[in-house]
Amino acid sequence: MGWLAHRSGRLSTAALVGVSTLLVTTVGAGAAPHHAPPAGVPSASTARQPALTRQLPAPPPPPVRKPTANPRVVKRTDAPAPLPSLAQLRSTSTVPSAAGSNAAPGASAAQRTLVLYDTTGQWGWLGEAYAVEAANLVSHGSAYVLHPVATYTAGELANYTGAVYVGSTYDEPLPLAFLDDVLSGSRPVLWMNDNIWQLTQRAANFSTQYGWNWVQFDFGNSTTVTYNNVALQRDPLAAPSGLLQTQVVDATRATVLATASGGSGGTMPWAIRGGNLTYVGEIPFSYVGPSDRYFAAADLTSQLANPATPSRKRALVRIEDVGADADPADLRAVADYLYSQRVPFTVAVISQYLDPNGVNNNGVPVSTSLAQAPDVASALRYMRARGGTLLMHGYTHQYSNVANPYDAVSADDFEFYLAHIDDANNVIYDGPVPEDSASWAQNRVNSSKLNFLMAGLPAATIFEPPHYAASAVDYTVFAANFGVRYDRGLYFGGWCPAGACGTGTPNYAEIYGQYFPYLVRDIYGSAVVPEDLGNVEPEPFNNHPPRLPADILASAAAAAVVRDGVQSFFYHPYLGTAYLQQIVTGIKGMGYQFVSAATVAAG
Ligand SMILES: [Zn+2]
Repeated sequence: MGWLAHRSGRLSTAALVGVSTLLVTTVGAGAAPHHAPPAGVPSASTARQPALTRQLPAPPPPPVRKPTANPRVVKRTDAPAPLPSLAQLRSTSTVPSAAGSNAAPGASAAQRTLVLYDTTGQWGWLGEAYAVEAANLVSHGSAYVLHPVATYTAGELANYTGAVYVGSTYDEPLPLAFLDDVLSGSRPVLWMNDNIWQLTQRAANFSTQYGWNWVQFDFGNSTTVTYNNVALQRDPLAAPSGLLQTQVVDATRATVLATASGGSGGTMPWAIRGGNLTYVGEIPFSYVGPSDRYFAAADLTSQLANPATPSRKRALVRIEDVGADADPADLRAVADYLYSQRVPFTVAVISQYLDPNGVNNNGVPVSTSLAQAPDVASALRYMRARGGTLLMHGYTHQYSNVANPYDAVSADDFEFYLAHIDDANNVIYDGPVPEDSASWAQNRVNSSKLNFLMAGLPAATIFEPPHYAASAVDYTVFAANFGVRYDRGLYFGGWCPAGACGTGTPNYAEIYGQYFPYLVRDIYGSAVVPEDLGNVEPEPFNNHPPRLPADILASAAAAAVVRDGVQSFFYHPYLGTAYLQQIVTGIKGMGYQFVSAATVAAG
């Protein structure tokens, strides 16, 4: 499961699994930076490719089709219900805005984290991307400031309770003041990957002070990272980027927090801690799949941001893609089961069903609002009475009358981003729609709000972008209207120049995605309720293998390494309730309690 980004700037999905999909961004053979390492630094002169991969949310496949002559789906009528007043369309967010803070609700007000990153070299833009991912994770625990390490000023670290440095450019020239402030030992620092050799060289005697040191880069195929006694996956594609091997030289001063194994190098430390320094021997934001060692990094990051992170064990389930074409019996069955289990849930509502080319209706176009599908609207009210919360899953969940990428039918296609399928059956992310703008996105949100009202449904307070994709501008519109998303994030290079997110021009050729194992506030300003386990897909699609309850539960076992982690999956009601029961039972059996999205969003 991966997206390949070509130098042309477009992305292709090599394979997709549910929404837990890996973005693989390749940049051309032989294009990797080549460095002749100076004496005394780790050997990395061969195969030293930057880790250019990213987790991207994958579009769910087309839903299982009902018979095309679906009596619940009717043609557009010429008698729409009366329009509500504009006042009824204003922001419906119920979550307090975080004015003055980029921390997520529930973060420690006493903590403040500095996030530093590399900017030089051919792959400098990746530094910002990795740092954004680190910062998004940090937000769970504290507010943060993000900026290039090059602009670090002497003494700056003292203004924070801790720092994360992501070393992504081999031999980025690090300010000596930064090295000295880290070595002063006064603040905890989480250091990822490159340039640790600059720190060890700067120290009077690093091994004595910290009790560990680096050995060399390992390019063996270490595919397992064991953390908190749980085996996490490391994609073999990450191996060529190298894993900086470390070793404990004084067990009274240093501790191995996680080990890597499975490759030619045997078992070696993956994360190590001595004194104020925690070190991870790679960038754990590359080639991220389900059940990934990313969970270990997410745990280390949030505990750096807030050592007092609570140890709650909460779970979420979202019922997906419910529009006017849904089967009310399916909806009621799901609601009855979850209610019987005292499981609150969220329902992702598509308020306007469109099939503009009639591909499921014998060539006759279909457009049906929820108000025009009263039995579905009634079933949604039934779901609410059984513990369901309705969120806005876009407006039509498709775009125009074109395949984007499948068939222009609601729930199949992207709404706020363009995509197509290439010759190798990969979904390619092409970029924003031609008319993309804040007003265009706002109009769609307004139209969906109208549909909720006309169907007699309460205003949604949470937004989920269809297929987890939108332009940067669209994301800011969602943040302004709702304050809370419930998804995986999609991000673009250039949005955070010098660490100031929202001040730059997004480069849609530099695209990357991220899922979260806990509540964050992402760089678009929304609190983001996590979805980290994906969904059941009985059939393969777009080069993704099937994903069954056992796979969801395996990912849950991996996510369990995260303190305060939320086990969160989504589910299509047309699958019936058997798979749903397996997952709910399994997650409960791991000691997690299902709660509402609002509970998680409150921090
Ligand atoms: Zn959807």
